[in-house]
Amino acid sequence: MQKVHKKNHNGNNQNKMMISIILLCACITLICYITTLDFDSYTDNNDSLNNNGEIATATPQTSVTPTIEPTIGPTINTDAWNLIIANPWNKLPDDFSVELTKLSNGHYIDERAYEDLQNMFDDARAEGLSPFICSSFRSNEKQEKLYNNLVNKYIKQGDSEEAAKTRAATLIAVPKTSEHQTGLTLDIVAKSYQQLNTEQENTDEQKWLKENSYKYGFILRYPSDKSDITGIVYEPWHYRYVGIEAAKVINDELLCLEEYLDKAN
Ligand SMILES: [Zn+2]
Repeated sequence: MQKVHKKNHNGNNQNKMMISIILLCACITLICYITTLDFDSYTDNNDSLNNNGEIATATPQTSVTPTIEPTIGPTINTDAWNLIIANPWNKLPDDFSVELTKLSNGHYIDERAYEDLQNMFDDARAEGLSPFICSSFRSNEKQEKLYNNLVNKYIKQGDSEEAAKTRAATLIAVPKTSEHQTGLTLDIVAKSYQQLNTEQENTDEQKWLKENSYKYGFILRYPSDKSDITGIVYEPWHYRYVGIEAAKVINDELLCLEEYLDKAN
């Protein structure tokens, strides 16, 4: 009896085991089925979002597709100190100020451009040239004085105030629109020829500066073919510091500063 009972007991255990295995298989199948359902509904949800154009980045493919960074040029930070712009359409901010370094000739330049300027002059002199700075930083007070003196002169000649201002602005920049107020600008001439006219471009000093100034972060600010963009007539003596990186692009691509800054937009 005991044996039979034992046999029966073993048989029950085997049956229970079989049932458990079947139940386990059923559970696994069910879980797989539910998982498949979940995945499909997830995909569908995202597809519908995509179709609505609401969350285009939620497609599952984005996780398996390698992200390719768009090709862009060097970042241009238009707020950088070396790219500040002063022209007939862009006044310097009222609170503009700059730390200056006084040169041995009494002129001033933004202290951050001093080293590159010194290197440029050292290298030019090593070539036997004699570049000469005839104008540099101008304070707002000085710019106002120059401008107002000319306006008053034209008023005395019979111009209305408005006409006198317009006429004066063709010769002297309206205060806060002169690049000389930035501390980044120098008028450089040949010591042997200091006239501010187009003949200046024929001096050896100007030829060298035109060819090499960009290596030191300076650009010829008002090229002859860019007057309609700069608002200023050709000035072969007027150099502006923009930093070596910007100067190289401006030189290589034959841009003026306004065109370079437009590349950032
Ligand atoms: Zn100038």
